[in-house]
Amino acid sequence: MIDHPCDSTTPGGVYLCQTDENLSCGACCGLYNVADPGFESLSALLRCRTELFLKTERNFDALVHFKEQVERMENQNRPYPEFHHCPYIGLVGSSLSRPGCLLHPLNPGNRSVDHRGLSDWGGLACATYFCPTCSTLPARYKRILRMCCDSWHLFGLIVPETAMLACFFQAIETLAGQILDPSVLSGHEPFKMAVRRFFALKTDWSYRPKGFNRLGNYFFNDNLYPRIPVNYRGFDCEPSGLDPILTALGSEFTDKSSLESAEQSLHDIITSAAFAMISP
Ligand code: SF4
Ligand code: SF4
Repeated sequence: MIDHPCDSTTPGGVYLCQTDENLSCGACCGLYNVADPGFESLSALLRCRTELFLKTERNFDALVHFKEQVERMENQNRPYPEFHHCPYIGLVGSSLSRPGCLLHPLNPGNRSVDHRGLSDWGGLACATYFCPTCSTLPARYKRILRMCCDSWHLFGLIVPETAMLACFFQAIETLAGQILDPSVLSGHEPFKMAVRRFFALKTDWSYRPKGFNRLGNYFFNDNLYPRIPVNYRGFDCEPSGLDPILTALGSEFTDKSSLESAEQSLHDIITSAAFAMISP
């Protein structure tokens, strides 16, 4: 298991924002607060924006003009209308293979100048903010998240789901009767595959209400966009032990049996992961 050089300066000790050449988050920059947050559409948007940025001079007027061009070019309908979506998030890295900040001093062409003061949050917030997952999710869970996820699109959707991740990993530990140990599991492909199956539910969950468009999590303390609770009372049921997962995925059930099917599909993944974990 490899540590990240930024782990020691991250609250909670596990850096999640830009983890390797192909994996990064960007959820707090509003990455998923776009009309179509699907992989293809979001990739095309980031690619197009990054190409425009490469042709943009790095001075105040040109960078403000860039923002205006981006806002004219792109659909401004947002699933969270009062949350921002930063026009300066694009693709970064030597092969432009992950989302990142185009204004960051390490972005080539910026010549070590930090232009993040142009953002809605302001440069200080951009440089110092860490989301609740960083500071509250146990470090072993964050390490497993970092080592199992192989898609930036899913990674940034999963990272802010603190309660969902805690519920999932706790359920595995309870079933296996063991604490998850990332250093043991880092080379354990069956376990990693089971965890990836769980992560994939974030885009593939089939129990969502019609018109569902809030794929990302609005995780800020103002509670402006609370999640819709599962209607257990309507089916005369006690709340599910997996409620944090069902709620985070965005679930609406038509009857008790569809609720039970959804729970069973989660139990199947948890059992696979727990079984893989205790198998040699
Ligand atoms: S949401 Fe959290 S992990 Fe993601 S970029 Fe922001 S601070 Fe980093
Ligand atoms: S300027 Fe700030 S909010 Fe915008 S992409 Fe960069 S870090 Fe994110």
